[in-house]
Amino acid sequence: MPLNLSIILLARMVPPMADTPKKTLGLETVEPAVTPPTDVEPAIEKKPVSTGTSRKREIPQGLWTKCPECGEMIFDKELEENLKVCQHCAHHFPTTAWDRINALTEPESFQETEADMISVDTLEFTGTAAYADKLEKHKEKTGLKDAVITGIGRMGDHEVALGVMDFNFLGGSMGSVVGEKITRIIELATERRLPAIVISSSGGARMYEGMFSLMQLAKTSAAIAYHGRQGLPYLSVLTHPTTAGVMASYASLGDLIISEPKAMIGFAGPRVIKDTTQSELPEGFQTAEFLIERGLIDSIIDRTEMKAQITEYLDYLCLNLKKS
Ligand SMILES: [Zn+2]
Repeated sequence: MPLNLSIILLARMVPPMADTPKKTLGLETVEPAVTPPTDVEPAIEKKPVSTGTSRKREIPQGLWTKCPECGEMIFDKELEENLKVCQHCAHHFPTTAWDRINALTEPESFQETEADMISVDTLEFTGTAAYADKLEKHKEKTGLKDAVITGIGRMGDHEVALGVMDFNFLGGSMGSVVGEKITRIIELATERRLPAIVISSSGGARMYEGMFSLMQLAKTSAAIAYHGRQGLPYLSVLTHPTTAGVMASYASLGDLIISEPKAMIGFAGPRVIKDTTQSELPEGFQTAEFLIERGLIDSIIDRTEMKAQITEYLDYLCLNLKKS
């Protein structure tokens, strides 16, 4: 066979390039992307990412919290388990009323009272924002109906009447509902001969309710006085911050007044006092540590020890109650 012919035949045996199926390398083997079903709760709740200006390499939000006191990074889950107290320096982070109740009372022992009581905008107050709008916004934000939760629970062997304020709801301000709920839980404690405990956290009376909020000071104080006359104990626990109208009424009327460490406690703000008295304020003024030395507070207790300590106090305070 002549050489030219064999080349032609060979060429014919090779299939033309156009007939070869094109391979898109690797693509056929890739699994379709799967996203987790949306109804599965994430193991760790993510906080919204800050939109503020920040350094280029920011630490991922939602897993760690930086302690403002000692600067240590704390794993959020550990912070939660330690009742929002820094393990390194014992800094007390803000917490919620429900977290406090869960930490203080025996599991499943707490029964809420007056859960449906809500504030009414009697004065139709409008300032920079309408009171009615503020109420709605805070109900949505906190899942609470107002700034206090009341109920009956058990601490150790003691049945107790408990009122716990939440600063997240309008700065823990005391309006008609807060005053009425505190009064009713104290009255219930008197009726059932139980010790009463109120945990305060408040910026004071709720100015959107004007005089109606101020009337709560007298009402709550009167209920505590009746409770005391029956020989029943009332414990007041102050947390950061407890000020103004709340401090001027039920928060300062405890048979025992307990505080969390470094809580700010006072009536008027330091600037107002400085201007009024025209004098320099001493260091640490209006802190729990300053006030315990001057006899306003009986003891400062870490949040992590609070349940055990209060239960022990109740063991003593309720000795006579059990006999009667
Ligand atoms: Zn710390």
